[in-house]
Amino acid sequence: MLSGRTLPKKGHGSLRCIRILRDLSARHMESARLVSALSILAISIHLLVGLALVMTWNRRRQQRFTLTLGISYCLVALSSSVEFLDDPNLEFTFTGVIFVPILFTANVCLLISGIHSLIGQTLKKTHLFLFAISLFTCVQVVIGHGNQFLTQLLVSLAYLYIAVRACMGFRVQTPAERYVGVLLCLLALHPLISMTFSWHAAEMQMMVGALIRTALGFTVLYIALDRTLQEAVRLSQRFQMMIEHSQQGVLIATPEHALYANAEALKIYGARESAALDTRFRDITMPAAEQAMLLTEYQKVINGEREQFSWEGPRRRIDGSVRYLHFFAYPIEWDGIQAGCILITDETERLEQSRALLHRATHDSLTGLPNRSALMETLHAHCRSPDWAFALFMINIDRFKLFNAAHGYGVGDEILQAFSRVLATTVPIGGVLYRVGVDEFALFAQPLDHDPALLGLEQILLRQLAQPIDVSGGAFYVDASIGRADFPAHGEDADVIIRAANAAMHQSKNKPGSVITRAESRFEQGSTDMLTLEQALRIGIRQREVYLCYQPKVNSETGEIIGFEALARWNRPGIGMISPQEFIRAAETTGLIVELGSMLLLHACEQLATWIKTGHECVPVAVNVSPLQLLNPHFPSQVMDILKSTQVAPEFLTLEITESAAVENLEQTRVQLAQLQEMGIHVAMDDFGTGFSSLGMLRNLPLSTVKIDKALIDPLPSEEGKAVVQAICQLAAALGLKVVAEGVETEEQARAAREAGCDELQGYFYSKPLSTEDASRMLSGTQSDA
Ligand code: C2E
Ligand code: CA
Ligand code: CA
Repeated sequence: MLSGRTLPKKGHGSLRCIRILRDLSARHMESARLVSALSILAISIHLLVGLALVMTWNRRRQQRFTLTLGISYCLVALSSSVEFLDDPNLEFTFTGVIFVPILFTANVCLLISGIHSLIGQTLKKTHLFLFAISLFTCVQVVIGHGNQFLTQLLVSLAYLYIAVRACMGFRVQTPAERYVGVLLCLLALHPLISMTFSWHAAEMQMMVGALIRTALGFTVLYIALDRTLQEAVRLSQRFQMMIEHSQQGVLIATPEHALYANAEALKIYGARESAALDTRFRDITMPAAEQAMLLTEYQKVINGEREQFSWEGPRRRIDGSVRYLHFFAYPIEWDGIQAGCILITDETERLEQSRALLHRATHDSLTGLPNRSALMETLHAHCRSPDWAFALFMINIDRFKLFNAAHGYGVGDEILQAFSRVLATTVPIGGVLYRVGVDEFALFAQPLDHDPALLGLEQILLRQLAQPIDVSGGAFYVDASIGRADFPAHGEDADVIIRAANAAMHQSKNKPGSVITRAESRFEQGSTDMLTLEQALRIGIRQREVYLCYQPKVNSETGEIIGFEALARWNRPGIGMISPQEFIRAAETTGLIVELGSMLLLHACEQLATWIKTGHECVPVAVNVSPLQLLNPHFPSQVMDILKSTQVAPEFLTLEITESAAVENLEQTRVQLAQLQEMGIHVAMDDFGTGFSSLGMLRNLPLSTVKIDKALIDPLPSEEGKAVVQAICQLAAALGLKVVAEGVETEEQARAAREAGCDELQGYFYSKPLSTEDASRMLSGTQSDA
């Protein structure tokens, strides 16, 4: 059925070539052996190239085309080997009908897919599948009808298509990549050899095909290796760039030598080249004292006994300056040498910043002294052991606000600085001076022989404070109230010690000049009492336990009542009457005065409204205003609201402010008083003559009245006393201010005050503060008198 001559016309691909060769061998037994040898050689080369490609893929699996093409080559070798089965009925066996066509189809498809992957393009699986089906069918047709031309054409067209894609597909073609297209073209066209000439040329075609395939295989191998190399170069360049531009120093070193240093490492050490670090490697990374230990650990890292190791500390640069460096080492192989890679971070700035931050957090910027939180830390640390006896002095400058007010904040600051310098001279060895508040200092002293040394310290403190302090505004005598508490005698923890020293300091406040008071438990009891008082007052205000009584003011000439001063009274349940000085102070320290003040102001206005409504001959009422109330910028409008709500004319209301209130914040007080004056409310300066008695203040503030304090009225009717009161009256007259004398207790005082020029008189001589009913009765009496 099948003759030796028709055999070559029927086969497909490599199968056909082998047939031709076998036919050839029938005719030329001599050359047949050569042809067999050649085809074994071709199979071996295909196999080797295929395996080389697969192995290349195994090393670098990103290059999938090496796997695809490798398998394709192996399949070529396998399908060619089938011919060696030497079965004359091969076309009718399973191998001939199914196995070989599948191998052939798979080989072509893998080649096409591999080339696509090589040029970086994806081939749709459906397209490939359709092509595979067509090719397989064609091969079957060839086997059935002996029309090998169709298969050949299909394969050639597929190769041509892939060759064109390969020619155009590479983004940037390397010479090797350019050959892929050319070789594929040749592979597509090489069947022309047998078609164009005669089937005798088939053996040549087989050899040419094998050669082209081999060349293609080597080219693809070359491309794969070239790409791997390029990738390696790119990676190494990238790594080098990263290392060179790294903000972290990188040093590769054995325990003896530095092998490599990046730019940052050179910069950190102030070196120009790695060689400068080489011989000094140990000294610059490890201080002499720690060298033995650090070298042992570093050697462990190099040996792989430790995965990593880090250390840090101050290190000298080449120029001798010191930087604080952090080192982190891990093992590395460097040009075949086992070494360590040390990452170096210059922590100097960060350390300085955190030190500066810490300093700022624990120090006062004006005096440079450690602050309250630093004091607390010291106390907490020392209170841990009762054996560490120490004394704490709380030092508060007396009337510091007055310095600020009278001379400005600049001088105030200078005084604080100068005061802290004076205190610093008294600090004993082991002691620390702190600034714990605006005008408050703390001296921590830890003398070895406790009491005598502390007594000496107290004397030094008082001696130093007796000296005037020189600042640009002049020399000032600064008094301070000092409280001393000892650990553990006065308390066993920081808070208790501070409370004890503070309570003692407040005791000193009650005595004139610079005074040191030792802590006593009763002082703190006083503070506790104050606290209870505050709590009770809070409730008292809500429950309206605080009320007003009214002390009349009389015309010094006629003796008729021309006004009342409203004075607060508190009948504390279970306790009785509490002195206004006491509860007003408590209200001021807690801020309750704002609520209490406006409540009393409302009461006073309501009372005025009642008197007016009930037809009494009404007189103005003076209400005392605390400095804290004046600090509120809305105070004038609040007063206005109260007047409006009670429908009382502003001229019936006088507000009494104290000098200290004005001094606290002169400018704001001036603005507030001006607004009150504009509303038609009178303002009186209370207690004149006890504090600053600044004439400038009388001139600058919009006042209507000056109330001379009882302390200046008491000496009356003495001539000196009278002269003082007279001088104030003359001054007030010049400024257009009315004068009220406070605390007039005797007729003589009343006469002397009148003669000195006081317009109004107030005091027990005329009347003690009266209840509302009595005051109403008195008003009615006035009315009836009139
Ligand atoms: P102040 O404003 O100087 O009030 C005058 C004080 O002197 C009153 O004491 C009054 O009773 C007392 N006094 C009047 N005449 C004589 C006298 O002839 N002899 C003596 N020995 N004392 C006399 P009081 O009521 O105890 O008030 C004391 C201070 O409490 C007041 O001094 C004032 O600073 C404050 N205060 C009283 N009520 C209020 C208030 O409603 N608000 C505010 N913020 N402070 C008030
Ligand atoms: Ca008053
Ligand atoms: Ca007064």
